[in-house]
Amino acid sequence: MSEAPVLQPLGHADYVSLTMEFRCNLRCVHCMIEGTMDRLRPESDGHFEEVLRLNRRERRWRGLILTGSEITLRKDLPQLVGRARACGFERVRIQTHGMHLGQPSYARRLVEAGVNEFFVSIAGADAASHDGITLVKGSFERALRGLAFLDTLPGVLSITNTVVTRLSYPLLPGIVAALSELKRLAQMEFWVYFPMAERDEKDLVARHGDVLPHLRAAIADARALGRKVEVKNFPQCLLGELGDALVNAQPELHIDEDFWTEFARNGFYQCVHRDACASTECLGLNSAYLAKFGDEAETLSPLNRVSSPPSGSTIL
Ligand code: SF4
Repeated sequence: MSEAPVLQPLGHADYVSLTMEFRCNLRCVHCMIEGTMDRLRPESDGHFEEVLRLNRRERRWRGLILTGSEITLRKDLPQLVGRARACGFERVRIQTHGMHLGQPSYARRLVEAGVNEFFVSIAGADAASHDGITLVKGSFERALRGLAFLDTLPGVLSITNTVVTRLSYPLLPGIVAALSELKRLAQMEFWVYFPMAERDEKDLVARHGDVLPHLRAAIADARALGRKVEVKNFPQCLLGELGDALVNAQPELHIDEDFWTEFARNGFYQCVHRDACASTECLGLNSAYLAKFGDEAETLSPLNRVSSPPSGSTIL
């Protein structure tokens, strides 16, 4: 008997994303909100209930994403998930560093409550590189154990996300290889780092030209394994024939208003070729990148009308 096809994520517009927790128990060097975590407020239970009621009435979204900093720190997570499923959300995704999924009884409890999509951050290709970025020993082994356990459960899909920094870009093909055995890993995402500031104070932004060969290899390898791929915040023109991997769209995000003040400091959409370029997906360069590497006018090249895929994306 042939195996059932792997469950696939829905389109971004099918989901609404709620930030329900701002604590975290990893210390990832690339964390973009570490300076604001203590003052940003999670969405209230009242707002959560409002979204559920709206969906029960209007079926506005098919999927709910529960995110945070680290959503599994909420002890009532299974209850939140159960309430969401009862209000017509056919998909519930959690975004997590995956550490707590290493405990099978906990992972199973979440699935039984109704989580059917797990979005797991993978920082490196092995324990040394991953734990060296999360700064918590054992975090890779526990996340991988969690993904392997989820892989045994029908009706569940996983997605991984890797933040691409000066430290992680050489690891990208190795990350794809390290996860190659997973059958229910439907999608791999590669989010090119931006620092939520005008300067790269932590020296984590990598030159796009240095990232490119590793990113291209990772996209091709992941696709060869049957995975979907989404790249965020990378110049589309540099990706060449792999340009369709650039997907900057995100689900509607409900988050503390103060987050957007910080986010605006990034200064996206700066590209000397912007007016001549037909890309509707590309975010160009941001302020921190420009301050560090300049405008890359010779490296970037505007897309013409034929080579630019259609889109109507928003970021975050
Ligand atoms: S030319 Fe600029 S706007 Fe166009 S794809 Fe390249 S980086 Fe993006």
